[in-house]
Amino acid sequence: MDKISIAVPCYNEEPALDPFFAAVSAVAEQMPGVEFEFLFIDDGSRDGTLEKILELSRRDSRVKYISFSRNFGKEAGIYAGLENATGDYVVIMDADLQDPPALLPEMYRAVTEEGYDCVGSRRVTRKGEPPIRSFFARLFYKLINKMSDAEIVDGARDFQMMNRQVVEAILSMGEYNRFSKGIFGWIGFRKKWLEYENIERVAGETKWSFWKLFLYAIEGIVAFSTTPLVISSVFGLLCCALALVMIVVVIVRTLVFGDPTSGWPSMVCIMLLLSGIQMLGIGIVGQYLAKTYLETKHRPIYLVRQTNIEGK
Ligand code: UDP
Ligand code: MG
Repeated sequence: MDKISIAVPCYNEEPALDPFFAAVSAVAEQMPGVEFEFLFIDDGSRDGTLEKILELSRRDSRVKYISFSRNFGKEAGIYAGLENATGDYVVIMDADLQDPPALLPEMYRAVTEEGYDCVGSRRVTRKGEPPIRSFFARLFYKLINKMSDAEIVDGARDFQMMNRQVVEAILSMGEYNRFSKGIFGWIGFRKKWLEYENIERVAGETKWSFWKLFLYAIEGIVAFSTTPLVISSVFGLLCCALALVMIVVVIVRTLVFGDPTSGWPSMVCIMLLLSGIQMLGIGIVGQYLAKTYLETKHRPIYLVRQTNIEGK
């Protein structure tokens, strides 16, 4: 009998957990012949999420959990889920029911009968999201796909079902700075996409502020592309070329017209512009250096405080 593990990263999801568990259990019942395992990853929640999970695990022996020592972020939650899932197929799912459990049977069919390794989901609308956020999200996907060789699909959710091979592939990417959307795109394999309309979360609120999303976008670009370094080098070269031309122009002008001192304000503007560009360049290099620094420390991706998984 096949076993499906549902890995659920949870951060402050107390009100969402009961409806989530009920909804997924209902779908599980419609799939006889498949064993289910629930793996809740409590990502250092500050509300009653852990108590709720403990209650579920007492009620239902299919419920496993890992509770982190602090908030490590959703990426770490996903990694812990994949690392500890024991199923033949693993599904990553949000706790807020924005990932429709009704897609599970179709996903299972695709990986067992249609020969896919992985079934992803993408929302084709962004209903209920602030327009500015949608605009920048679209822009981000355009940019990163130009810059990176990992295919990152607009609107792709983390909600997906994958077979063991794909799980092992993702786990083999042991980087500390985990940008899952990039990792999922980078590994390749045969992936089927299911599309659905955006669904608003059932309870609680989103953990993503605009600022957090912005930082996440930069992280994604730094993690999956070195194009910004190329851009800053090319820009540096262009500035040098321009400066050489200017030097010749100024020398000729001084010799021919004898006016060496005018143009002071424009000089200040140019200096400001160029020092700004320099700072930006250093900043870009610094981003990569910082990430390299963090990687070289080989810190664990997450730390467990409490779990009901044996040998953990
Ligand atoms: N999440 C997490 N750790 C975090 C932030 C979020 O495990 O630091 C979980 C959260 O509990 C939810 C999922 O990641 O199950 C997606 O978060 P959210 O719904 O806030 O994001 P959105 O759907 O708005 O993109
Ligand atoms: Mg959500």
